[in-house]
Amino acid sequence: MNFEENETIKSGMVALVGLPNVGKSTLLNCLLGQKISIVSPKPQTTRNRILGIVNGEGYQIVLIDTPGLHKASSEMNRAMVRLAMESLKEVDVVLFMVDALSPIPKKEDTPTNYLKGVQTPALLLLNKVDLVDKQKVLPLIAHYGNLYDFKAIIPISALRDDGTDLLLQELLKFLPEGPKLYPDNIPTDSTERFIVGEIIREKLFLCTGQEIPYSSAVVVDSFKEREDKALITIHATIFIERDSQKGIVVGRKGSKLQEIGTSARKDIEELLGQKVLLKLWVKVKKNWTKNSSFLKELGF
Ligand code: GDP
Ligand code: MG
Repeated sequence: MNFEENETIKSGMVALVGLPNVGKSTLLNCLLGQKISIVSPKPQTTRNRILGIVNGEGYQIVLIDTPGLHKASSEMNRAMVRLAMESLKEVDVVLFMVDALSPIPKKEDTPTNYLKGVQTPALLLLNKVDLVDKQKVLPLIAHYGNLYDFKAIIPISALRDDGTDLLLQELLKFLPEGPKLYPDNIPTDSTERFIVGEIIREKLFLCTGQEIPYSSAVVVDSFKEREDKALITIHATIFIERDSQKGIVVGRKGSKLQEIGTSARKDIEELLGQKVLLKLWVKVKKNWTKNSSFLKELGF
């Protein structure tokens, strides 16, 4: 794939979904490994965690994780399924991964069930084809092809980096042309800051509900590691647009902000493998989403 310089790039959000152990993390590492990109924090069972950003020539793929679909649907409650479905509608492409080894999933775990009512184009990745005889692959492709109207079914081996070029090629067909969603090369030294900001935003979303996040931004003001490396102190500011939102974010006697802070801190500690002291502020910045110089400051 060749892209002329200055050409509009393809960029979009891609959900990578599939049952545990099919090879999602392996694929992610493989995609991230060959392209310049940022770290992949541990997948969480929460909403739309960014798994990694793959920056290639002429494209930027933001891979996200979708909650709920890690578990078999029978274990999920309806709300989780609905939330997962909603996230699948918000992305540009769904990569649905199965592996060639496992028995064909139970009816309730089939892609048809997960993707029911989702209009987003979906590609089926049949992973671990290195482990099965070639003649077993075709019937599997036929089987999954009958289950759902996938835009493509791509046999891959994430472990051996086989078929991933074809995967990228197919994937890019369904990504819209447009600007990058994230700064091009988030320098490695600010990677952790960036992820920390995303984690706080995610918790903000989870703790406050739909209304807040689309008009919120998180800026990590400082990120200081103590000399003995035993503690990282992080200061961050949550920007919201309206005074009325402040009460929602802060909560009664600060309880909501505390909840956001605690759950974010836990994830950040897990990500960084260190103890973290997280201090959060909430500031109202009227109409910041329309304020281009402020947006620039945020890196958009
Ligand atoms: P996840 O739970 O979907 O994230 O799955 P992982 O990426 O953690 O993979 C589960 C296991 O399958 C690991 O032991 C991987 O090494 C292995 N695995 C993943 N992809 C492949 C593949 O293409 N071929 C083979 N042989 N093993 C794979
Ligand atoms: Mg995994």
